[in-house]
Amino acid sequence: MAKVHVKAGDLVEVLSGDDRGKRGKILEVMPKKARVIVDGINIQKKHTRPTQTNPQGGVVESAGPIDASNVGLVCPSCRKPSRLGRDRSADGDVVRVCKRCNKAID
Ligand SMILES: [Zn+2]
Repeated sequence: MAKVHVKAGDLVEVLSGDDRGKRGKILEVMPKKARVIVDGINIQKKHTRPTQTNPQGGVVESAGPIDASNVGLVCPSCRKPSRLGRDRSADGDVVRVCKRCNKAID
């Protein structure tokens, strides 16, 4: 199974495609498909019929999944999309580390 390097709630930057350079928070990770849904990225318009919950119907915009390899985690310390390493914290947990500034991200 493909490993996804990011998780829900992470701030990421899109590295390729139409939304390149945009940033958003990961809303959902789909590990089996190696895809992620990022807030405000890959907006897809859906035309919906009026329903009881949405009596107006019309166009609904929602973020669509993109390939996880097209996003880079934005390091909270240096504010740049960064490659990640792994390290162990003092209490033995595996933490993700920014390879740019060597600070733990989790
Ligand atoms: Zn960093």
